[in-house]
Amino acid sequence: MTNFADLNLNPKILKAIEEAGYSEPTPIQQGAIPAALEGKDVLGIAQTGTGKTASFTLPMIHVLARGRARARMPRSLVLCPTRELAAQVAENFDTYSKYVRLSKALLIGGVSFKEQDLLIDRGVDVLIATPGRLLDHFERGKLLLTGVQVMVVDEADRMLDMGFIPDIERIFGLTPFTRQTLFFSATMATEIERITNTFLSGPTRVEVARQATASETIKQGVVLFQPQRRDRESSDKRDILRGLIEAEGDKCTNAIIFCNRKSDVDICAKSLKKHGYDAAPIHGDLEQSQRTATLDGFRDGKLRFLVASDVAARGLDIPSVSHVFNFDVPTNAEDYVHRIGRTGRAGRDGKAMMMSAPRDGKNLDAIEKLLQTEIPRLENPVSTRKKTIAQSSAEVAEQKQVQAEPKPKLRERDGRQRNKQTNTNHDHQQNNAKKDHRTVVGMGPDLPSFIALSFQQRMVES
Ligand code: AMP
Repeated sequence: MTNFADLNLNPKILKAIEEAGYSEPTPIQQGAIPAALEGKDVLGIAQTGTGKTASFTLPMIHVLARGRARARMPRSLVLCPTRELAAQVAENFDTYSKYVRLSKALLIGGVSFKEQDLLIDRGVDVLIATPGRLLDHFERGKLLLTGVQVMVVDEADRMLDMGFIPDIERIFGLTPFTRQTLFFSATMATEIERITNTFLSGPTRVEVARQATASETIKQGVVLFQPQRRDRESSDKRDILRGLIEAEGDKCTNAIIFCNRKSDVDICAKSLKKHGYDAAPIHGDLEQSQRTATLDGFRDGKLRFLVASDVAARGLDIPSVSHVFNFDVPTNAEDYVHRIGRTGRAGRDGKAMMMSAPRDGKNLDAIEKLLQTEIPRLENPVSTRKKTIAQSSAEVAEQKQVQAEPKPKLRERDGRQRNKQTNTNHDHQQNNAKKDHRTVVGMGPDLPSFIALSFQQRMVES
């Protein structure tokens, strides 16, 4: 077993690691840290949740602890696909560089350029950025990348999905040829392979999980359903989703609900809220302040349901999510693995449930092919509920029928009552008068009995 102490990291970093409560390096850390400390390029093939962020932040802190940054010339650069992921990497730097003096800046959209310019002007050791915002700063002439000694590309496969590869290639071109590159991707698509062949030199390859392996601690299930009508598919899914949540009860402490489209993220969150569930949306079109507040609320356990798009949720480190619901079957099979990987982390149990209409069949097949297993089929909680309602109304009808057939004892009593009623003719007539809802005005209590009788009764009795 390797200990952190065996990795030759700066004692100040080891102290911060100890305080973070980590006893031993994870496999990606064991593979990547020694190579990175030797100054080698690293190609890390790992998903989030494996400890990959620390596998590049720890050696970077070690290397950057010596030397000083110059104005507008960051000494290192970390590129992340989303603002949230960039913010998370920045937090990691804060945690591990607690006892090392290191300046850093976070360049993400939705934050004013002015503040960011000020930081860059002062000189930063670590610049953490999303590609678009970094190039914006560069084009405004505020930034030089020629001082970058270490460059990290995090979640490269997501960069590819988001169309950032041309930006990444351009940024590589702006940094010195002699830089060290630490490159991370959960999967190795052909395009990613091409980039690594072009920009990495003799990298140490560290692969920690087989491509698209779902954790064994995640219990999966899929509800196959036939929409009542084509235009009702989405609302049927919202019904099923509520049914699944209800069926889980208290076991569902918190959940991420994934939708394929941003518009559906909004609709789904609104619908859940309308039905009394504590839910909020997160996707790329929302204000940064709202995204941060929502995410913080979810992390702190104040928000129970986070409805998200793939991009927004990518790489988020939320350790204890009990459930993942795939409102939509993802069109990219690998996204399924990423989505469900939000639950069942660090050996905890998790549950991942999905809804699939007939038109999702092809995508479902692709997921099962990738997983090399069939996802267990779940009963549709809505049809079960309907069945239960139908059953109980059938039972009620049956009961009514049973009650309608007079029992002998009751008949006897009815008969006695009828006799009693004929005997007390006056009461009977008054009752009928009440039943008729017709009040006879002006006769007082001495109402002649024949007036109180209904017309039909009068005919029968006459
Ligand atoms: P990541 O894959 O970087 O998103 O990390 C996933 C989670 O693992 C984060 O919450 C880290 O704080 C945690 N982590 C990182 N390294 C270790 C370690 N060596 N031991 C235990 N937890 C760790």
